[in-house]
Amino acid sequence: MITVAFRLDDPSETSNQTVEAGILDALRANRASCTFAVIPFRLVNGQRTPLSAERARPLVDAAREGVIEPSLHGFVHARIHPEAAQPSEFVGRSYEDQRTMIREGRAHLESVFGKPVVGFVPPWNSYDSTTIRILEEAGFKYVSAGWRAPSKPHGQVKTLPLTVHLSEIPQALDEARRFIKARPVIVVVMHHYDFEESGSDQASTSVPEFASLLSQLICQSDVKLQTLAEISGFMAGPELSVRQHNVRAIHPLMARFLPKHCFLNASPWRAMLTKKFFQ
Ligand SMILES: [Zn+2]
Repeated sequence: MITVAFRLDDPSETSNQTVEAGILDALRANRASCTFAVIPFRLVNGQRTPLSAERARPLVDAAREGVIEPSLHGFVHARIHPEAAQPSEFVGRSYEDQRTMIREGRAHLESVFGKPVVGFVPPWNSYDSTTIRILEEAGFKYVSAGWRAPSKPHGQVKTLPLTVHLSEIPQALDEARRFIKARPVIVVVMHHYDFEESGSDQASTSVPEFASLLSQLICQSDVKLQTLAEISGFMAGPELSVRQHNVRAIHPLMARFLPKHCFLNASPWRAMLTKKFFQ
């Protein structure tokens, strides 16, 4: 089975509700679910503005129905160093600062959604070893960022990196089928600006196209759509994806035998026992 998770980044007090409503309709029409990485506070005219119950109502309804899994997307989603080449809200901050931001952010989302928030998605996919220590202490179940990620080998927090964007799904599925015995996982990251309905000139798709993509995926007998929280419940180890990335980075020869668009929930050598792998 191939597991596919969709992660929409940046729903917040100020995000585009038309796009979000369209995605929620598409998910409901296909009985699918998705992780929404929600920003708990925004800076509006320099003031810290919390996600309000009124603004969050469609998201809260969707979470109650099981259509979305809300996860914590940073604190106010602002760069710690505006001039830095690699933007980050967390890297380099003290333990105390990061702990306060994560605790306050999570407490606010849990009060809005009325349910536990178990996942952390750092803005710009950027965090450090202090962040992972705090997530462990706070009992988070997963962190979803990039491939190159600090992790704790014997910790409880599963590392579930983004593996593709929307346009790369066909090639990710082709590749995942070669590794199907190793239980591949594809994590697709989306932003509001990917959708024409946002008015962005970066848009590469539309809400109807997304709905049609979901209908195609759910018809495929070897594909299962799940949220990141669900995936964290069955991953065999906290850092399988990190090890896969490290082997790819260090051993060019081995890299040819490991997938680029999915991570595996078992040894890749299991995949090689199938005829499909060599086709
Ligand atoms: Zn973001």
